[in-house]
Amino acid sequence: MSRTIWIQANQLGRDNSALAELLRPADSPPPSQVLMIESSGRSTLYRYHRRKLTLLFSAMRHFAEELRKRRITVDYYPLLPDGSHPHRTFEDALRLHLQKFAPTEITMMELPDIGHHQAAASLIRNFGIPFRATRNTNMLTDKDAFATAHRSRKRLLMEQHYRSLRKQYHLLMEGDRPSGGRWNYNTNNRKPLKYGSIPRPLSFLPDKMTCDVIQTVNALFPDHPGTTVGFDLPVTHAQAIALADDFIAHRLPLFGDYQDAMVTGEPLLYHSFVAPFLNIGLLSPLHLLKKIEHAYLNGAAPLNAAEGYIRRILGWREYLYGVYHTFMPEYLTSNYLDARRRLPAFFWNGATDLHCLAETIGLALRTGYLHHIQRLMVISNFATLTGVRPLELLDWFMALFLDAYEWVMVPNVIGMGTYADGGRIATKPYVSGGSYINKMSDYCRHCRYSVRAKTGSDACPFNYLYWNFLDHTRTRLSSNPRLAMPYRKLHDMTAADRRDIHHAAEKFLLCFPR
Ligand code: SF4
Repeated sequence: MSRTIWIQANQLGRDNSALAELLRPADSPPPSQVLMIESSGRSTLYRYHRRKLTLLFSAMRHFAEELRKRRITVDYYPLLPDGSHPHRTFEDALRLHLQKFAPTEITMMELPDIGHHQAAASLIRNFGIPFRATRNTNMLTDKDAFATAHRSRKRLLMEQHYRSLRKQYHLLMEGDRPSGGRWNYNTNNRKPLKYGSIPRPLSFLPDKMTCDVIQTVNALFPDHPGTTVGFDLPVTHAQAIALADDFIAHRLPLFGDYQDAMVTGEPLLYHSFVAPFLNIGLLSPLHLLKKIEHAYLNGAAPLNAAEGYIRRILGWREYLYGVYHTFMPEYLTSNYLDARRRLPAFFWNGATDLHCLAETIGLALRTGYLHHIQRLMVISNFATLTGVRPLELLDWFMALFLDAYEWVMVPNVIGMGTYADGGRIATKPYVSGGSYINKMSDYCRHCRYSVRAKTGSDACPFNYLYWNFLDHTRTRLSSNPRLAMPYRKLHDMTAADRRDIHHAAEKFLLCFPR
């Protein structure tokens, strides 16, 4: 009789609840082993960025090494650069594992993505092996309790859940009151960047294990986007913690002030860049949040920065996880605004003369990462204004982004990014003309279009697309009180102005097939 703990690529936390069962002393524990599989089948569900595949396989291999040092048996199925591995899929590797160990039960921490969890459970049960899932310790929210409490609501607001988690985990609290007397310091935040010299995040030289992974990824996934050249991401817990500590010491103090700023050639500014590592378990959310609070309590970071950052992790991250588990699977195919255009081809090569898009798409293709305001107010804004199919945009994010998993990307794209859910999580679509991008970035200074011109061949396309979008979605959106002012402005425009806007938008959209 033996037991198997299956650990997948996004379950590498030291507090993985299935692993914890194995490590817990018992009177006479059955022999147990950990199973880890690199699956080329799973790796091609999307054309994943090569940096992401390298990160996942390297982090898995390093974690397996760590477990072996702790005298845990690890049955590891690596992909090999010459393709000679005896497995291609999870099923192939699982069959080999069962022949070797004949476990009487397989346990796995619950995967955050519903489809992947169900697929793994069915696969195991189809082999006739009992399967047991343990709680997902990579999140702080009880998803079932969240779904039960919220399922019948038309709209879910993040703030309520965020405040209850602040109280539950006693983060930035003074008794029952929020530190500083306020829950939210957004009004102190979101300034355009005024000066340069931004500290760069730590980078890590690839070791032999990572170099082997790079060779494999390049050999097996040559048509996937991105490059492994210059790969410098953390792949161990220690490295991920060092990255987070460096952020807290050097960039957190100005994170709040400049969290919405965007600058050409500056990929991260004061953002932490920890989500890719948080989402696979190399960092623990609670440890990270405690460190942020500690920085505030020690005077190393102001309250607006600490609260703004904690809001992103304890607020948005947890809330989106709850939303995903409350509204799936119907949520995935929502298309409230009836957006039917194909994703423009330039999303896969960055070849566009709209500088804000060329800059952000180019960055995503090179690095697999953008910070949230680039995702929301440049990429998703453009996709919404031009009526790109939400699922095509979702696929783009899922393929390219280091931190993309279904549980976080579905609500981010279907809800926040494109308003395809009809406003279940956002009170209005996050759309704007060029003036918002101009206010928060230097992009327009490098652009061939004029952000001040409303129509004409040199006018910023975001400008006429914005008004054209509002006009075309009037029946669905004009009763939204948060859009009352722009709809009033639209109403007050002359017929000639509106005609010019429509002509400009139509001409621009000719290049975007439905
Ligand atoms: Fe983007 Fe318009 Fe600014 Fe050009 S002018 S960078 S298209 S917002």
